[in-house]
Amino acid sequence: MTTKPKVSKAALAEQFRGFIDPDYVITDDETLKPYECDGLAMYCEMPMLVVLPETVEQVQRVMRICSEYGVPVVARGAGTGLCAGAMPHKEGVVLSLAKFNRILKIDPLERTARLQPGVRNLAISEEAAQFGLYYGPDPSSQIACTIGGNVAENSGGVHCLKYGLTVHNLLSVELITMEGERITIGSDGLDACGMDLLALITGSEGLLGVVTEVKVKLLPKPEVAQVVMAGFDSIEKAGDAVGGIIEHGIIPGGLEMMDSHAIVAADDFAQAGYPREAKALLLCEVDGTEEEVHEHIAEAEEVFRKLGATSVRTSQSEEERALLWKGRKSAFPAVGRISPDYYCMDGTIPRRQLARVLLEMEKMSDEYGLRVANVFHAGDGNLHPLILFDANVPGEFERTEEFGGRILELCVEVGGCITGEHGVGVEKIRQMAVQFNDEELQQFHDVKAAFDPAGILNPGKGVPTLRFCQEYRSLEHKHEHTEADHG
Ligand SMILES: Cc1cc2nc3c(=O)[nH]c(=O)nc-3n(C[C@H](O)[C@H](O)[C@H](O)COP(=O)(O)OP(=O)(O)OC[C@H]3O[C@@H](n4cnc5c(N)ncnc54)[C@H](O)[C@@H]3O)c2cc1C
Repeated sequence: MTTKPKVSKAALAEQFRGFIDPDYVITDDETLKPYECDGLAMYCEMPMLVVLPETVEQVQRVMRICSEYGVPVVARGAGTGLCAGAMPHKEGVVLSLAKFNRILKIDPLERTARLQPGVRNLAISEEAAQFGLYYGPDPSSQIACTIGGNVAENSGGVHCLKYGLTVHNLLSVELITMEGERITIGSDGLDACGMDLLALITGSEGLLGVVTEVKVKLLPKPEVAQVVMAGFDSIEKAGDAVGGIIEHGIIPGGLEMMDSHAIVAADDFAQAGYPREAKALLLCEVDGTEEEVHEHIAEAEEVFRKLGATSVRTSQSEEERALLWKGRKSAFPAVGRISPDYYCMDGTIPRRQLARVLLEMEKMSDEYGLRVANVFHAGDGNLHPLILFDANVPGEFERTEEFGGRILELCVEVGGCITGEHGVGVEKIRQMAVQFNDEELQQFHDVKAAFDPAGILNPGKGVPTLRFCQEYRSLEHKHEHTEADHG
């Protein structure tokens, strides 16, 4: 819990203007407005002020001053996050890393890249391409999101099934603590001695420190990649086919699923040539050497046919492969065209539970009278249900939020987790009470206190208070009342 800052907005801005270009200390409402939310615009708050430092020393000074006065600090990358993690604190400072946008070094021999935190995810692969290399984790937002945000959220993407999440592709991070101390975590080697603090920092949602430099591993570009598209007349069959592929021993570069709403919306948008009558579609990419790909593609086609695919098509050129992915990668904006608003959820379940959870969601969709489009990383069981709603209809947002909460709690019930890659932020703070017990939550609080004893770094995000959790858990039958209300 933060206490009221011991400094006025004007006095704080004055101090910052002493060492940061005054144009980059923002205090007026009009210029502050774009910072009021991240990609989850359902949750907004205007910050007291925004600073855009240009050097690590400036970041350190901002942190020291904020520490001294008890002013909350929220780090911000590109603001594409989907859990309100970068939503400002109304009495706090937003510390934007937008000016830290340089690729410091690409080392083709080491296959590594040293980056400032504001470098865009896609820019890393674009720069590394000259050496035949690329950076593995590829969030669909990669054109805009930053590596600092990726570290804070432990971001994933289509290729993470085979190549791992952000945490598996990092070597080290430089971090500025709330007291302004500059520390490096991790090492240039494959392992660092001592406790694995790099894994602790990755996915810590800006609660433990501000990342000012990142060193990542780069991968050689695969010789060949092809994608098999398989249509199914039921979600259960598609769910079983996901398990079938893995059981067969193929680890695809990506294994993605879309349901009928998503198929039609994405196909209208990208003209990808999807089987529009299918109830579910799988895109299975295989990459590697020519022989490997040839063999695995034939096997994948056979597995899909055996498990009931109604159509199977394999890309025969780079253009065709890109087109099949274009539909998938533009599925979110495509769904945005068929509904005034949509709410993108993120939860993970064991793969074998895919069919059960998707069918359960269909029932909830009828119960709440809200359509759901599913487009997600099926291979790693990472669901992204998009609940379609209209914020202008009174009560519809609240119903959507509750529906989303129930999906997350269903993920926990079947042995999964309330987030796959988007983080907890403000959005999923209630469901932390379902995922963890008080002892586990207390351990998170203890870790937070070790880095930030005053609790002023991104407060109110990620880890709920124990009292809040007890209250939430005590809301017995919390959904039954609203179910009755919705008929
Ligand atoms: C259309 C769309 C598609 C998406 N697809 C994916 C996807 O496929 N996979 C996926 O994982 N995510 C996806 N996302 C979510 C989002 O892009 C990621 O979470 C991304 O990593 C956020 O990066 P950012 O730079 O925008 O961070 P922000 O949104 O600015 O911040 C996110 C969090 O990181 C913290 N933070 C940011 N920079 C730093 C720093 N330097 N030091 C410490 N903390 C910091 C913030 O405080 C906040 O808590 C998608 C988002 C959109 C809008």
